[in-house]
Amino acid sequence: MPQSSIIVVGNEILRGFTVDTNSNWLAGRLFHVGYPVRLMTTVGDIDADIVAAIRDDAARPDIARIFVCGGLGPTPDDRTYVALGRALNQPLVYRRDVGAAMQDLMFVLNMAARRGTAELNAGNRKMAMLPAGAQLIRNGAGMAPGLAFDLDQGRYLFALPGVPHELRSIYEDIEIRFLSGGHGDVVRELHYRLAPESMFHDVMQALEQEYPDVSLGSYPQTETRELILRASGPDVDRVDAVITAIRNRISQFTPLR
Ligand code: ATP
Ligand code: MG
Repeated sequence: MPQSSIIVVGNEILRGFTVDTNSNWLAGRLFHVGYPVRLMTTVGDIDADIVAAIRDDAARPDIARIFVCGGLGPTPDDRTYVALGRALNQPLVYRRDVGAAMQDLMFVLNMAARRGTAELNAGNRKMAMLPAGAQLIRNGAGMAPGLAFDLDQGRYLFALPGVPHELRSIYEDIEIRFLSGGHGDVVRELHYRLAPESMFHDVMQALEQEYPDVSLGSYPQTETRELILRASGPDVDRVDAVITAIRNRISQFTPLR
């Protein structure tokens, strides 16, 4: 099964000012369409760190889709385009089409009136300086376009803005164009009430051996005091067999569902 990685960029995440909802949302969607996330990396607004994270993931042939999120904006702390250029060895070039689209948005978003000019400023022009190999993905919700890079052997890297509704809007396009043909794993759960996790150790260990193709995890919910056992895998019969085996082998407790 093809796998993905997510690189989240931003000091605000590392310093606790912003909760990283983007990678959580993306991970759910990618799991569902059959490009599950293998690893997530969070880096600050530091060129060398962004470049290193991109190079690390790009060097892994087992990662078929890489999503770099955040730092596409007009201020100097937005460094993702520059870092992408360095990591992929592509010069930055001014994209007239991106500049022109921003110019249009100046009027659509009524920015020209607020600023008293429709001229692109230095910050705007910076957002149109893109690595030479970038394909554009239209951003219906904001100024910074999403980018797609063809890496090799059918692998792709995407750059998405950090603003959540822009990221989601661009992702919808990516899903249609670059993530088709995958099959998401089947997920099944058992919910127990007040069952101590350790009771499940032996059964889960045995099932891990018997069903290496099924991922099995235990997730205690402290608020509801429920214990969720979650199994997932590509083959529905195998996943169901694991769930049935847990029901049968743990006779002291009956799941709520
Ligand atoms: P902008 O043009 O707004 O600068 P950008 O692509 O540069 O867009 P960032 O500067 O990284 O994006 O983030 C813009 C805003 O989006 C942040 O201030 C924050 O509110 C939100 N944001 C960024 N990253 C995340 C994230 N991982 N999860 C949730 N919200 C985020
Ligand atoms: Mg920004």
